[in-house]
Amino acid sequence: MRDFLIAGNWKMNGSSAANEALLAGIVAGVPGGSGFSLLVCPPYPYIASVAARVAGSAVKVGAQNVSEHESGAYTGEVAPSMLADLGCEYVIVGHSERRAMYGESSFQVAAKFQAAQAAGIVPILCVGETLEEREAGTTESVVDYQLGAVLDAAGIAAFAKAVVAYEPVWAIGTGMTATPEQAQDVHRHIRAQLSKKDADIAAQVRILYGGSMKGENAAGLLAMPDIDGGLIGGASLKAKDFLAIAEAAARS
Ligand code: PEP
Repeated sequence: MRDFLIAGNWKMNGSSAANEALLAGIVAGVPGGSGFSLLVCPPYPYIASVAARVAGSAVKVGAQNVSEHESGAYTGEVAPSMLADLGCEYVIVGHSERRAMYGESSFQVAAKFQAAQAAGIVPILCVGETLEEREAGTTESVVDYQLGAVLDAAGIAAFAKAVVAYEPVWAIGTGMTATPEQAQDVHRHIRAQLSKKDADIAAQVRILYGGSMKGENAAGLLAMPDIDGGLIGGASLKAKDFLAIAEAAARS
């Protein structure tokens, strides 16, 4: 049985005061029940204070990116062991903004995935197609390529301690959510690809949906058999919006 994971990617937003207000709202409003976990991924400078603020609550802390290197002359980078030291349990790797704006290749993403796991952090591997790729009918091959780079490097066993996030690029920050059926088709495909390598691992890996998920569409998406939670950008920045998604997970 796969529990839902509702993960907030704050991107480059926040301040000490804004984070305090947001977390006070989230911590106070975590829905009762079981079968789901909540995660927030603040910008690096706030990880330590956010981890201290949510300690003892049901909210976990993650990061939005990580270096593929463990230490050394990599100016501006943050090592996986540093994230672990600060209390991060998860890290997002391969977000489409990093692939597109910072030129991260699928091979680099695979190296980040492995480096995170070596430090005991669960990677959330993002995959997804652009609008042009969807319209050209290449969604599955794009996702296969992105997933394949990590499978080749890390092997299927690594997916026992990993999360996959299907994030159609055309749905991120645009308000254009994939329909539950569109998302389910790709989630089913991802699980089938993993299943070719190991059916047991494929059955237990969580596959999140990301792309304009909000309170109004969360229940429909989370009702799909292969959707195991959400990676949420915009709607993770207001406690009320984030909690509305958490409540949909708690009910599903
Ligand atoms: C994201 O950036 O991962 C994301 C899903 O953003 P949004 O929810 O704003 O579309």
